[in-house]
Amino acid sequence: MNKSADNADNSVSANSEAQSNSTSPASANADATSSESAQTQATESSTPSPPPSLKRQRALLVTKVGLCCFVVGATTSAAITLSPQLSQSRNDATSAIPQIPSLNALTDKLSLNRNEAAAAIPKMAPLGAIAHNVGSQGLGAFPGKISASYLCVAPPQSLTEPGAEQGEIIPGLANPTLAALTNAVNPSFVSQFRAAPWPEIHEAARTARVPVLMYHDILEEKEVFFDVTVEEFEAHLERIEEEGLTPISFDQLYDHLRMGAPLPPKPVLLTFDDGYVGHYTHVYPLLKKYQYPAVFSLFTGKLDGDIAGRSTVTWEHAQEMAADPLITIAAHSVMHPRDLRELSDEDLQREVVESKQRLESELGILIRYFTYPEGNYDERVAEAVADAGYDAALTMSNYEEWFAGESDDLLSIGRFGQSQLERVLPDAWEGLGMEIVGANTFDFYSPIRLVERLETEEVPLALITGGRPATVHADSRYQLPEILARTNATAAVDGAFFNLRYLDSNVMIGPVLSQATQTFVPGNPSENPLLNGRPLALISADEVKFVPFDADIHNTLRGIQSEMSDVTDAFVGAAWLVRDGEAQPASSFGTLFDFEAYRHRAFWGINNAGQPVIGVTKGRIDSVALGELLHQVGFRDAMMVDSGASTSLTYEGESLVDYTPRPVPHMIALLSEAEAQGPCPLTFEDAPNADNTWAAEY
Ligand SMILES: [Zn+2]
Repeated sequence: MNKSADNADNSVSANSEAQSNSTSPASANADATSSESAQTQATESSTPSPPPSLKRQRALLVTKVGLCCFVVGATTSAAITLSPQLSQSRNDATSAIPQIPSLNALTDKLSLNRNEAAAAIPKMAPLGAIAHNVGSQGLGAFPGKISASYLCVAPPQSLTEPGAEQGEIIPGLANPTLAALTNAVNPSFVSQFRAAPWPEIHEAARTARVPVLMYHDILEEKEVFFDVTVEEFEAHLERIEEEGLTPISFDQLYDHLRMGAPLPPKPVLLTFDDGYVGHYTHVYPLLKKYQYPAVFSLFTGKLDGDIAGRSTVTWEHAQEMAADPLITIAAHSVMHPRDLRELSDEDLQREVVESKQRLESELGILIRYFTYPEGNYDERVAEAVADAGYDAALTMSNYEEWFAGESDDLLSIGRFGQSQLERVLPDAWEGLGMEIVGANTFDFYSPIRLVERLETEEVPLALITGGRPATVHADSRYQLPEILARTNATAAVDGAFFNLRYLDSNVMIGPVLSQATQTFVPGNPSENPLLNGRPLALISADEVKFVPFDADIHNTLRGIQSEMSDVTDAFVGAAWLVRDGEAQPASSFGTLFDFEAYRHRAFWGINNAGQPVIGVTKGRIDSVALGELLHQVGFRDAMMVDSGASTSLTYEGESLVDYTPRPVPHMIALLSEAEAQGPCPLTFEDAPNADNTWAAEY
């Protein structure tokens, strides 16, 4: 056994859990002894040297982190002399970036009149009824489809010269602020915020230095030397505050590592392993007092009482903390085996998959992150974690510690033992991602994942996350898997409202633009004003926007392009469920038909990681409760696209609803990264043999 003292932060305490309360003083001593020798070596090897590369810097850190406990005053490291240089280049970079002052103004502008508009919306059920009311001058009266095939050309090199050659990209008309904004943002900056292939770490995140701090038990009185008392812990929080650090959430770190999303100044991530009761009784109240986010890694066997050992949080504690946006719950296996690498495939699977499922069903939240027990993993273990559907994993090493951005990938995010606090405080830095773009980042290249049954308090959800969104406006109405089979997409939810009056028709309510057919079809001008204020979804190769529909502006391709110059898909949805991170109140639904009724509901949106998500409820629920639920499971924006008998979701050819839904003419699809190249990657084959005999059934 040759472990540095920092391991004492974790491995020994893990021992103590596994072996009961008694901690062997012998093993603690052994750790302390080996740490002393590590300290000797470190002292010898940490003489000042020329500014190293990041890699070199990491190597130096490695020699330092073997040290026991608090290494105050070890300020001669090259890592620290590097800081001013990086800061300097950051300032240079920042000054070269155009400012975007009008973003907030723009947002305010878009939300104007929302409530007024909502109040004007008629009851929706009867979408067919709208058509009836429209009467004879209705459906035939508006222009037919307009080919928009020129939409799917490579984007212009510079948006400041709109369509000089292409001519097709029409600059903003109705919204000059937006046009100015678009022109102001250098596209090369925007494009650099596309995600790297998962699980790679984005280049922009390599410049930052985010320490992830690891704690174990926090209790009134020390039992072993690596315990942290409540007073010591509060002193840590005070130091973090004094030094101007900003504790961030795991989601923020993930977005940063995945897409280079900006971070607040001097970020740090606080993590607490193994679910001791002190995490609930001492840590959680302090986190609330300081408003600091944190991660608690739980292994379910402990909460179930299957493992004797130190104190444990209860499921009730975990539920309370999981419902708090400050807290992220990560899975930490079922039984906390000391080394997942030694398990059979079957046992490994169980530790990784069951812990996720159990936490999800008990806590009603998505579990996105895994923490390797004692940091032990290899390629096979990481693959099992990826296959189980986790987005990222935390490790720790007995021999070295590193900043998050120095990790090999998202499945090996390194941590520092809490004893390193003073050493990492001056190094924490947000990196070059800062101040380049707003928080409105998107990730269209993450793996497509199915969460078939997410148990929540209200109603189970089926969700499919990841990939790149695109829509199909089909030639007629079909079962969703039939439409999906004609495309290169992986999954789809049924899309916008269509007209029930004509059974074999593909007539939609409101305008629709689909990259699959490269056509823009205006909505019926008589119906359109009834849709004012509803969310208009706009999709391009790297972003999604939901703006309030305005019949005066949005019934032409030009008008839609004024909101998003490189739009490839657009349609009008029923209502916002979550808007800018807020679940929508009953008042926001206006007179939307049956919004308060219990119905099956279909929805789609963007989660907090900037990934598209499509889904349906696996039971009946009202719109307000659904909005709260989607907010809780991590939606940043969500719109309801359908409810009732046509609600459908399909994944790789299989329908994920338990009934035979009504056929539909429109869908929102997700394309895997391999299929998602170019401006309009969604392909749509002609119907092999248009067979609409189903229509007779309706
Ligand atoms: Zn642990």
